[in-house]
Amino acid sequence: MRKFFILFTILLAISFPSLALAEKKIPILIYHSIAEYNNVGSKELFVTPANFEKQMGYLKEKGFTLLTFEQWNELGRVEKPIFITFDDGYKNNLNVYRIFQKISDSRFRPAATLFVISDFIGRQNRLSREELKRLGDSGYFSIQSHTATHTDLTKEKNFQHELKESKEVIQNITGKPVIALSYPYGTFNKKVVNETKKYYKFGLTTTPSAYIPKGAKDEKYYLPRLYVKYSTSLEDFGRLVEGVNR
Ligand SMILES: [Zn+2]
Repeated sequence: MRKFFILFTILLAISFPSLALAEKKIPILIYHSIAEYNNVGSKELFVTPANFEKQMGYLKEKGFTLLTFEQWNELGRVEKPIFITFDDGYKNNLNVYRIFQKISDSRFRPAATLFVISDFIGRQNRLSREELKRLGDSGYFSIQSHTATHTDLTKEKNFQHELKESKEVIQNITGKPVIALSYPYGTFNKKVVNETKKYYKFGLTTTPSAYIPKGAKDEKYYLPRLYVKYSTSLEDFGRLVEGVNR
């Protein structure tokens, strides 16, 4: 038995460098508004519909597989996995639906996750309940939580409302499980992660890097995301998703 363990340890040591070389970089992209910039808010949080369509066209042409968090277990089985996420639940995300319908075909199936603020649903520039239901039913979108009020969770006391109730509100609208949370402002700490674990399987930060699976404890609650900005050229986008200079 002891010999076996020694052999096993040696084999592990030998195979470790090759494992490291084979390390996978999985991009999780973050967007906010898909619209022409209207001089309200931060310009870099907008991507024009024309640019977004070109970016999705790039992913289609280069053979990426767009996943949502329900498909996490398929990560190792698909070609060039990538996650597309949108924070804040803006109404202009309907442009994403239009573009997805346009570029979808038998070999390319677009998919994205919308992180919505549950207390903001139905406000003037945010998606309504009916729209969220329609997007969820379309098969292109997974509707997930960005808390109830877009609070800084590291300063929050009412986790019940922000985490549990926001999840329930969204589930009641879509009729589908809410399993992922994106931390407002990208802020989190140990306490926030522990609270998140009670209700969610995934926590999304804004730490700017690709996700590299390492098997670390709780790594699914520290998922990094790569910003796509107004100023991101198609060339920049290619580098971002292909993991060059990242
Ligand atoms: Zn946000």
